[in-house]
Amino acid sequence: MMKYISSRSKQEPNMAGKNAAQAIIKGIAEDKGLFVPEKMPQSLGDMGLLTGKNYKEIAYLVLSRFLPDYTEKELQECIDCAYDEQFESDKIVPLVKGGGAYFLELYHGPTAAFKDMALSILPHLLTTALKKEKIENKIAILTATSGDTGKAALEGFADVDGTEIIVFYPHVGVSQVQERQMTVQTGNNVHVFGIKGNFDDAQAAVKKMFNDPCLATELEEKGWQLSSANSINIGRLVPQVVYYVWAYIKLLEQGIIQPGEKINVVVPTGNFGNILASYYAREIGIPIGKFICASNKNNVLTDFINTGVYDAKREFYVTSSPSMDILVSSNLERLLYHLSGNNGQLVASLMKDLDEKKKFEASDNIRVGLTEFYGGFATEEETTVAIAELYQGDHYLMDPHTAVGYKVYSDYVEKTGDTTPTVIAATASAYKFSETVVNALGLPSQIDGFKAIIQLKEATGVSVPRGLRGLDKKPVLHNRVVEKSQIPEAVKQSLSDDYHR
Ligand SMILES: *Cc1c(COP(=O)(O)O)cnc(C)c1O
Repeated sequence: MMKYISSRSKQEPNMAGKNAAQAIIKGIAEDKGLFVPEKMPQSLGDMGLLTGKNYKEIAYLVLSRFLPDYTEKELQECIDCAYDEQFESDKIVPLVKGGGAYFLELYHGPTAAFKDMALSILPHLLTTALKKEKIENKIAILTATSGDTGKAALEGFADVDGTEIIVFYPHVGVSQVQERQMTVQTGNNVHVFGIKGNFDDAQAAVKKMFNDPCLATELEEKGWQLSSANSINIGRLVPQVVYYVWAYIKLLEQGIIQPGEKINVVVPTGNFGNILASYYAREIGIPIGKFICASNKNNVLTDFINTGVYDAKREFYVTSSPSMDILVSSNLERLLYHLSGNNGQLVASLMKDLDEKKKFEASDNIRVGLTEFYGGFATEEETTVAIAELYQGDHYLMDPHTAVGYKVYSDYVEKTGDTTPTVIAATASAYKFSETVVNALGLPSQIDGFKAIIQLKEATGVSVPRGLRGLDKKPVLHNRVVEKSQIPEAVKQSLSDDYHR
């Protein structure tokens, strides 16, 4: 049976490891590492045989490989509950041609960003895992968000029995629409806090709580256990592998590629979860040539891919693509593990350097592995120009995150002349960032996100996602803003509220 082990584990034979259900419940390993598959699952085999399958069928094929301790019935139920009418496209994920590439539209779920792809199924995977493992504790889901994970996690976990969901978002830094989506969230188990700090601060505080044995004991006594809805949870990552397989099969069906032919992928990247999922897709048989990692002005990953040196000691910028405003990309740790030949000890020492010096240097074998990646970034100006040009040219409307990806893709093609068919992950609806998009298109400038939605709709005719309609009319239910040092207290408070309820 496939095991998940820590990315920081020492190379010892018979490593204990966890099954997938246990890894999903725990979220993060005891030694602070992230769970990685001890061995990559078996390949999906001949892709030509998978044409004609729908999204749910592909999801089953991928999930059953990575989560083999779940029964077929359990997985089918999770999949059926997730990928249903809450998605506004019957294909779930449309692949749309534009700008010389293919946009994989991952944003047709309830919160209009790609986080729905995983967070619509994670609550089901988690509650199933609790049953399988016969755990009676209630689960407190701690979530740090740069804007999109928070709402998707709230939406996924609201009123799920046996769970309490607590979200921390940067009070300054998310878009007006993103903030409102979170602060109007209903449900009797939801807690939302703005923090005076950025995503990295929120993520660090959350990770620290996972590794605090005293807190664990304290919560345990009250019948609580912590887990995570961030992409540090393997239950977030695995459902993201599905849509890269899906994209490949769509290209095959349309005759754009032949079985076995390579594609490139472009991923607007923040915490490195989405692009890592494409790497896992390659490991189970999707022929991917280049992994094109697109960053905004917070270009720590661009520098890392180009130099092998990860240096988080730099200025942090709030940009128009806030979900990528991240300097410490958690899931990179998993890639380091795989590229280093599963050398957990090396990864542990690199992460120690990152912790203490805010910097680490890749070993030689990691550098070799990185040559499969291309790193680039787009400035704020380049991002808005990209939105305008593609809309004027192909009438394709991009949000700022997707536009960062498209700009980096254009640079890559210009630099290399590589004509490999390319899939660009379109990670959010333009309506989530209407102010930016309205400005980019040269429409009268509008600082109010909700008025900008109306303006954008009138100018483009593109339909507004269901989840964003009428958002400005909903009552704000959460308005607490805390110092980052108060995050642990906020968690205890949220759980004790429930305790006394
Ligand atoms: C989260 C997010 C990203 C970054 O994805 P990672 O998996 O964190 O790299 C990019 N775009 C949007 C719209 C997002 O919500």
